Amino acid sequence: MPSCIVIGAGMTGLTAATLLHRHAWQVTVLDKGRGVGGRLATRRLSSSRADHGAQYFTARTPEFQQHIADWQQAGIVKEWNLISTPTTDITFQHPRYIGIEGMNSIAKYMAQNLSVLTNEKVIRLTKSEAEWIVNTENGNTYTANRIILTMPVPQALDLLAHSDIALSPEHHLALASIQYAPCIAVMASLYNNSSIPSPGVLKFDGGAIAWVADNFQKGITSHPSITIHASPDFSRQNLEADLDNVGKELIAMLEQWIAPSFIETIQVHRWRYSLAEKRYAAPYLALDISGSLLIGGDSFGMGNVEGAFQSGFQMAQFLFKK
Ligand SMILES: Cc1cc2nc3c(=O)[nH]c(=O)nc-3n(C[C@H](O)[C@H](O)[C@H](O)COP(=O)(O)OP(=O)(O)OC[C@H]3O[C@@H](n4cnc5c(N)ncnc54)[C@H](O)[C@@H]3O)c2cc1C
Repeated sequence: MPSCIVIGAGMTGLTAATLLHRHAWQVTVLDKGRGVGGRLATRRLSSSRADHGAQYFTARTPEFQQHIADWQQAGIVKEWNLISTPTTDITFQHPRYIGIEGMNSIAKYMAQNLSVLTNEKVIRLTKSEAEWIVNTENGNTYTANRIILTMPVPQALDLLAHSDIALSPEHHLALASIQYAPCIAVMASLYNNSSIPSPGVLKFDGGAIAWVADNFQKGITSHPSITIHASPDFSRQNLEADLDNVGKELIAMLEQWIAPSFIETIQVHRWRYSLAEKRYAAPYLALDISGSLLIGGDSFGMGNVEGAFQSGFQMAQFLFKK
């Protein structure tokens, strides 16, 4: 039976693993996080819920539309109507989808029939004649014929360097040129609803804040909460700053919509890799001649959650043909 170890349980890894599993491959997904989802991230704050990574996703490709239709039928995903958002961003004219109980619930749903091991940070890959050997920080060893890497590319390069896997100069150049924007995300639970106008989104061009979502209006929490995404420039400048202070500074800028007395609790998350600003054109890259070591993710192909899905989908198709 063909086997594959997928490293990373975000949208890319879970998509690839789902398809391989359906074709009777023996698949193990390893993730260093406490749970699945990666940047499909949702957090609890007192009695509310907030998405602090991806806020929504598009569905422009037929394969993804089919999966979304299945998730909608299963009650996991719904459309978020942002068409009425006052914005010059014409891309809002396309439907946007969200997890009904937060974005992370999509990953949990995808993972339920897969063999996914969390708290398993992969620290080394070795190729023997017959198979790949994967070592984790916990001292565990896994083996398979194929490996799929889906973590942000700088982390993958680090793993490959620690594994003594020599990349061709072309591959190294291609991977080293991929870049991500950082993002400081602030989540706050509120005693009262914000006065952000319907449908619950603020978008800013320039300045410290790029995006604010009212998670109550979004429909993922019954107790009010908001999510703020700092702009890439502000996030870059403040990435190593005291996050509590940065969170308070950003919330204070929204006094017009959220009175200081409304704030119940604040949490701040530092994303070193949020959206891929410079991507590799194709949806994945085979790093060895036999095609047994693939690297993909949202920095390959079209980007974002849909691009992550496409990357995972295309890697599985590639392996079926091998
Ligand atoms: C703040 C923010 C806002 C965003 N907004 C949007 C949006 O509105 N719309 C949109 O479409 N996209 C958005 N995105 C991007 C979207 O979240 C990503 O494109 C997508 O979720 C990436 O999925 P992935 O599986 O490729 O990577 P990830 O979700 O990052 O998954 C990679 C996984 O690899 C794991 N990992 C890393 N190293 C190791 C290791 N050594 N061993 C084991 N596991 C490891 C990680 O724990 C992680 O779970 C946003 C992202 C952020 C952070």
